[in-house]
Amino acid sequence: MTSTLSPSALRAALHGTSLVLTPLDEGFVAAHQIRPGGVDAVPDAVVRPTDAAGVARAVRFAADHGLELAVRSGGHSALGRGRRPGALVLDVRGLDDVQVDRAARRATAGGGVTAGAYTAATTQHGLITPFGDAGTVGVAGITLGGGVGFLSRRLGMTIDSLHSARVVTADGQVRTASAQEHPDLFWALRGGGGNFGVVTELTFDTHEIGTVVGGPLILPATPTTVAGVVATLRQAPRELTAIVMVMVAPPVPFLPEEAHGRLVVMVNLCWSGGVDDADAALAPLRALGEQAGGIIADLVAPGPYIGLLEGPDGPPMAMHNRSFYADDVDEAAAADILDALGSSTAMMRVVQLRVLGGAVADVPTGATAYAHRDAPITGVVAAAEPTAEAVAEHVDWVADVADRVRRGRHGAYANFVMDGDPTLLAQAYPGDTGRRLAEAKATYDPTNLFRSNLNVLPAGHD
Ligand SMILES: Cc1cc2nc3c(=O)[nH]c(=O)nc-3n(C[C@H](O)[C@H](O)[C@H](O)COP(=O)(O)OP(=O)(O)OC[C@H]3O[C@@H](n4cnc5c(N)ncnc54)[C@H](O)[C@@H]3O)c2cc1C
Repeated sequence: MTSTLSPSALRAALHGTSLVLTPLDEGFVAAHQIRPGGVDAVPDAVVRPTDAAGVARAVRFAADHGLELAVRSGGHSALGRGRRPGALVLDVRGLDDVQVDRAARRATAGGGVTAGAYTAATTQHGLITPFGDAGTVGVAGITLGGGVGFLSRRLGMTIDSLHSARVVTADGQVRTASAQEHPDLFWALRGGGGNFGVVTELTFDTHEIGTVVGGPLILPATPTTVAGVVATLRQAPRELTAIVMVMVAPPVPFLPEEAHGRLVVMVNLCWSGGVDDADAALAPLRALGEQAGGIIADLVAPGPYIGLLEGPDGPPMAMHNRSFYADDVDEAAAADILDALGSSTAMMRVVQLRVLGGAVADVPTGATAYAHRDAPITGVVAAAEPTAEAVAEHVDWVADVADRVRRGRHGAYANFVMDGDPTLLAQAYPGDTGRRLAEAKATYDPTNLFRSNLNVLPAGHD
């Protein structure tokens, strides 16, 4: 059941603890806009609390009034503004504190902190926690889905560094989830997405990394280079992790003009094994470029890890993507990728490949709600256009390419199911993982208040 929202009743229920913005208020559009464009589900109100008590009041109000509730922090997913017009958006960006405990090597972030703000705070103490490739992504959002990034092969996923979380569950209670307290909730939060409550605080273990050698290495796109890059990364020491983008080269100043519009392999890499050993570690990747006629651009350089999270935001575009896992990307699969990218007319299209293994695979599958520990490669196919109508033309293409690259391997990575497509639920959470999540959902959100996500239904739900 979904009812109509009364702004005056909402304001009264929040006792002035949170800012409430409705379509009549200045700042409303900026408050509900999210990063990927093209979604037109405008909410009825945006609530911006500054503490867990404010979050709890908003959660109780939504539950009592049967409102569609959407939770947003970094704003990178279309779900952060609700699936349907008329939702109540709970925008937790005001929970923006970061506390670093150098002695305990832990850091605690409010539920609205971005990966960039968190990393800026911990870097001052010579510490980091691994997130993804973009500093603008919300710490809560990426953690709840799992978190793969530039240090995954060395330090594991973001969830592997999560020590505990404070969560407002559907009954409006603020709970601590950790290995000791509510361990079923703690298990579910590590991969199960925003299904179990609003996270108001996350405490992470931190790591010393020092200077890394990283940045993009851009190679000519041939089946041999694409497959060679994947094979090289699979054999590399854990200190090397890369995010590989097979894509049409954009007209950017750091690429030579003759490369613009051509298919390239952009290897966004991070070597954390020491500056002195970087050249030797990266030699096999550079050799692949030389063999293919020459490296197009080599922007790999030593620097602080945080520098890898700082990229310019591209223009706002409507994007459609499909996540996949693969056992390998051999030359035949690489040729398929290049054919597909060459034949698409999408303004922006990319096949992104991330080689996992290493510390990601050290953790047993059942230890967290991330179910794909054994998958050596995860990836995403994406198409983007200026409008949602234009990107709709490419939906079949995206699904078809993902199916061709996965070559029968089941699975989807929850963080890249950004539209919450329910047909992908069992791919993200197969077997036991799905069953345990449904049980946790029945315990902590039996009425499915938190459903603007890749939605897990409570066990026993028809
Ligand atoms: C440009 C870009 C780069 C990315 N790179 C990576 C990457 O390198 N690695 C990776 O693993 N993923 C990556 N992602 C995916 C990203 O991790 C997910 O889309 C994630 O959900 C975004 O979180 P957010 O807080 O920014 O987004 P939001 O839209 O604010 O939130 C997304 C969802 O997370 C949940 N949520 C967010 N905050 C809370 C909270 N405080 N409490 C409860 N639920 C909450 C809600 O269900 C919400 O709908 C990337 C996405 C983009 C757009």
